[in-house]
Amino acid sequence: MYTIDLTGKTGLVMGVANQRSLAWAIAQPLVQAGARLAYSYQGERLLPALEKLTAGQDTFLVPCDVTNDDDLDALFETVEARYGRLDYLVHALAFAPQVTFDRPFVEVARDDWRTAMDVSAYSLVAATRRAAPLMRDGGSIVTLSYLAAERVVPHYNMMGVAKAALEASVRYLAYDLGPQGIRVNALSAGPARTIAARSISGFGEMYGEAGRASMLKRNIETDEVGGLGFALLAGQLGGGVTGATIYVDAGFHAIGMFLPDRAE
Ligand code: NAD
Repeated sequence: MYTIDLTGKTGLVMGVANQRSLAWAIAQPLVQAGARLAYSYQGERLLPALEKLTAGQDTFLVPCDVTNDDDLDALFETVEARYGRLDYLVHALAFAPQVTFDRPFVEVARDDWRTAMDVSAYSLVAATRRAAPLMRDGGSIVTLSYLAAERVVPHYNMMGVAKAALEASVRYLAYDLGPQGIRVNALSAGPARTIAARSISGFGEMYGEAGRASMLKRNIETDEVGGLGFALLAGQLGGGVTGATIYVDAGFHAIGMFLPDRAE
């Protein structure tokens, strides 16, 4: 059997809010394979749930609002003090003001644009810049994107634009850090019922439609995102992949036309 032992490897996971979070789905197989993971969380409100989820793990939890440079500095200083190095970074967080989902894209306000770009795209650059010096033996970074980066998905609006910037940032970061053996990739996940998804007007309807129209005729499971995340992070499997956006969406992205009468 092909086994992967990540004993001695360390990672930082940013973006676990609860057990449905895609960040949590990616963390699971890493922990099961023996990696030690630290988690960052946005604010004190999220701490009790994270403490409960991670009880029993050899871990530590650090607050970090990614719009705050001092928080980011303190986070990576703590990781360096505790681990001395880093192998994996999971960046699974995003935010856009509610009004950007509710109103047409053409109305997006400058401040709302800035906020969405800052949290959802720039934060990857800011975290990667601080993680890279700790990845002394190379490393792997994974972020989460969505098809709205490249196609219009109703209501995603500003978040789609921010995801486009995120995917472009993945390519430039991968180029910069490739010589250091650091890989950077995005997973473009199909819809999943998480807290973040609740902000999106009409998400329930879109979730149903994506399940019906995808090639596999179903929605994805979050552990399928976790599985591919694991493959990209654990170098034995994903060692040759960098600068990529890989879809975990039951084939939805590749369909050019949806026929309602396709055999069920
Ligand atoms: P989630 O609500 O579980 O996670 C979102 C996380 O973002 C939360 O932990 C939240 O605290 C964090 N966050 C927001 N603003 C922050 C800030 N300023 N500082 C620090 N953290 C902040 O939802 P999720 O669906 O697991 O989202 C994870 C990633 O997956 C996001 O990038 C999201 O866009 C992406 N994604 C989600 C779906 C989906 O359908 N759920 C599909 C594709 C991609």
